[in-house]
Amino acid sequence: MASHSRSQESNLTDENILISHDRLYKIDQLREKNIGKYLPLPQLVAVGDQSSGKSSLLETVTGIPFPRGQELCTRYATQITHRRDHDSFISVSIIPGPRASAKHKEAVESYFRQVSDSSQLQAQFPAILDEVNTCMGIRTPRNPTGQYTFSEDVLKIEKCGPYEDYLTVIDVPGIFRTTTEGVTSENDKVMVRNMVIEYIKDPRTIILAVLPANVDVATQEILALAEEYDKAGERTLGVLTKPDLLKERSAKRSVCGLVLGNRKPLNLGYYIVRNRGGDDDEDDSELSTRESLFRQRPWCDLPDERVGVRALRSRLQELLGEITDQAFPIIRTELRDMLMKSQADLDALGASRKTPQEQRQYMAGIAAKFQHLMRAALDADYSRDKAFDDGDLRLVTRIVNFTEWFEYTFRNSSQTYSFVKQKGVDEDVDMESEPPKGSDFTTLNAPEYTELKQLVVEDLTTNPPMNGIMDWIDDISRNFRGITLGTVTPSMLSSAFRGQSVKWEIITKQYMSLVIVAVHRFIDKGLVTVCKCPIVRQRVGATIVTQLLTAYTSAMKQAMLLVEIETQRKPYTINHYFNDNMQKLRGSKMMDQLTPHAQRIEMTANNEVTQFVRLDKIPSVAENKSNAQYAREEIHDILKAYYTVAAKRFVDYVYFLAVDHCLLSGPDSPLLLFSEQWVLGLDDKKLASIAGENQQITDRRARLTKKVQDLKDAIDIL
Ligand code: GDP
Ligand code: MG
Repeated sequence: MASHSRSQESNLTDENILISHDRLYKIDQLREKNIGKYLPLPQLVAVGDQSSGKSSLLETVTGIPFPRGQELCTRYATQITHRRDHDSFISVSIIPGPRASAKHKEAVESYFRQVSDSSQLQAQFPAILDEVNTCMGIRTPRNPTGQYTFSEDVLKIEKCGPYEDYLTVIDVPGIFRTTTEGVTSENDKVMVRNMVIEYIKDPRTIILAVLPANVDVATQEILALAEEYDKAGERTLGVLTKPDLLKERSAKRSVCGLVLGNRKPLNLGYYIVRNRGGDDDEDDSELSTRESLFRQRPWCDLPDERVGVRALRSRLQELLGEITDQAFPIIRTELRDMLMKSQADLDALGASRKTPQEQRQYMAGIAAKFQHLMRAALDADYSRDKAFDDGDLRLVTRIVNFTEWFEYTFRNSSQTYSFVKQKGVDEDVDMESEPPKGSDFTTLNAPEYTELKQLVVEDLTTNPPMNGIMDWIDDISRNFRGITLGTVTPSMLSSAFRGQSVKWEIITKQYMSLVIVAVHRFIDKGLVTVCKCPIVRQRVGATIVTQLLTAYTSAMKQAMLLVEIETQRKPYTINHYFNDNMQKLRGSKMMDQLTPHAQRIEMTANNEVTQFVRLDKIPSVAENKSNAQYAREEIHDILKAYYTVAAKRFVDYVYFLAVDHCLLSGPDSPLLLFSEQWVLGLDDKKLASIAGENQQITDRRARLTKKVQDLKDAIDIL
């Protein structure tokens, strides 16, 4: 104990170097890379009851004047860190607590003080603590308007200098068990306890369990708490304070029993130190004077390595080394996780975009990526990009499903009246087929796109065709009778077809709505994929939305024009399927009529039964029909043959013209809108308003770039 006569200040420079250089060289380098800013490195925390001597102990150990015995007790955690720097100074700041409001956060984060050295800090400490209390809103006699008794904010004292070694020491408020009316509440109690737990549960924390020697150790809750979070007892040291206050010999002997491990043994054992007393009298302020006590009985009988602050320091040094070794793997993993996250954040910001050229390059890059994604989506080339895990981006597959639904709905439900089924004609058409899998759409699911509300229909249900087509045709033929030689007039057919196709418009609108929403969703989600910056994304969206809506509207108009042409013009087709269908229908009808007049003849040669009709019977079969009956059957058959052909033609055309040409691959497709050409067409002002970045983003990028570099360096060091 050679240096006992030295002053407090000189204690700081050599005795307080707790960690050996070789062992902690790496940590030291990490600290230089500012890693301590991003993740906790090994640290010391003093915990215990109120007034057990925590702050005093930390002061004795580090030589830094902790706020000690201040207005009853510590009201918030104080963190003292050391950082190597060219210049020597001490800075004081406040780290806002995890639940701080934005306003409070702003207030405490703006607090900053700097002093040149420990003695200046000591001189200014009372004033600084007053400011800190006011800033955190803590109620004290000098700040009676404060709202809080305790705060989760952390007072941070950073000691910088060319010879500072790595060490973080934390002083937390003392645990208390009984609340005091008007001062401490049950809430405060829980809050302080949680704050203490938050620190001691970290495997990188060495717990100094501070126990006043003049109080029965059995009453000290902190030992149980420390044991709970440090089960193996690898990082908990018992530190007995205030031995000078013990007068009775039996009490002293009892404390010696603790140190010797006779009672309530701790894995790492107990140490005994004497801090400065409350009265601050002269002979008390010198460590050597204070520790002369230990030369007396019974203390002098205790092993040297358990008594006095030097012994404690040297044990702490060892322990910090061990904890640091153990912490390395954790630190490594955390560094890697943090690097990944920071890199992702940085990527999300994109390249710097201050000049028009940088902005144009940035936007063109995004647009090119979008076009690339879009082409893959139209080619169903989904293996190219992980983004296609999202079904909404598998655009062409969506469209195919919708088109299948459209075709099915058209075949089954587009007619106002069901046609009469005929043998040999309808059998090959699978009218009752199941709806295509996964496409039983009933409502349009796009509540997030209010901009589309005017354009699309949400209800996707259709009424099934009605029965009674023959009666309905009767009405038509009666109402459209004219002076003609034949029985079926063109206007009868036009009118019948118009009546039979009234649902075409709504079904087509439903189909177009499905497709428009799918395209819109693709563009929306595609932008998220290619542009990580939400601000730019939102601005691009806002800029192109009008043009998108124009494209969707014109597609819808095309579809409606097709509906109009098909349903309102005179029915006509040159498709030979119409004649084929007519002939099939006529043939089938003829057979129906002739069947009652047929004779069955068995061919003896090959045992086949064949039916024959005598030719002279045929005119009478035809004569039996009235004109009206003939007319309505004729109308029905023509209508049916034509409907089938027209519906097929229509479905094809809606897909080709309104969907594929207008919405997907045509020159005016909305998918082509956000392209490199579009970016090139923007003038500098418009470009800046979309791609330009504000100071906040510039700063954030600079911070993240530095952080990523720091983390990369740190990983290299480990
Ligand atoms: P904390 O609430 O646990 O931080 O306790 P403090 O460090 O503020 O100490 C409470 C009071 O006990 C202060 O007045 C200290 O000066 C006094 N104290 C602390 N340690 C000792 C010691 O070893 N001997 C004497 N006599 N007083 C001490
Ligand atoms: Mg204290």
